[in-house]
Amino acid sequence: MELLKKRILQDGKCFEGGILKVDSFINHQMDPMLMRQIAQEFVDRFKGVEINKIITIEASGIAPAIMVGYVLQLPVVFVKKKMPKTMENMLSATVYSFTKDREYSVCISNDFLTENDKVLFIDDFLANGNAAMGMIDLIEQAGASLAGMGFIIEKAFQDGGKMLREKNIHVESLAIIDDLSNCKIAVR
Ligand code: 5GP
Repeated sequence: MELLKKRILQDGKCFEGGILKVDSFINHQMDPMLMRQIAQEFVDRFKGVEINKIITIEASGIAPAIMVGYVLQLPVVFVKKKMPKTMENMLSATVYSFTKDREYSVCISNDFLTENDKVLFIDDFLANGNAAMGMIDLIEQAGASLAGMGFIIEKAFQDGGKMLREKNIHVESLAIIDDLSNCKIAVR
């Protein structure tokens, strides 16, 4: 997606350890006009795929997911990183966080992810695929089916994309970063 690539090159910042900061337009301050176009691009790429629900993980996945849900007129559910005492029929999984270097539990109510759901997972980044694996675990526990996974940015120098595609999952990434070494952003 050309507009996104340009914006990453213009406003993205590189950090030690292969981390790309896009907090001026994607995951802290957000550009809703860009996000709207990102959502349309996801919708175009998953055209013809049967989907009845969008799922994401808090917090940075929520903005693109709700835009996709709005365009498709479908409900959006976000997986929570804190276990609410009041959640009923909770499903949970463990996820390793690449940016925080620790494991955490994620949960979703089985009321909102059921065996009748065909879900599209949307997130901001795909790195090693740990968040995605946690989602797959929850989707399997619910007996739901995974229609596809869409990421705003995929870091191709980490293994998540390869691992998910090897599982025959329909993965779409709107911008692919080939390299971040020497603090230079190489966008494919
Ligand atoms: P994964 O689970 O695929 O290893 O990493 C994906 C998650 O880690 C995303 O949900 C995102 O929040 C975070 N993440 C991974 N790499 C980056 C990065 O380079 N920059 C930012 N801002 N977040 C990242």
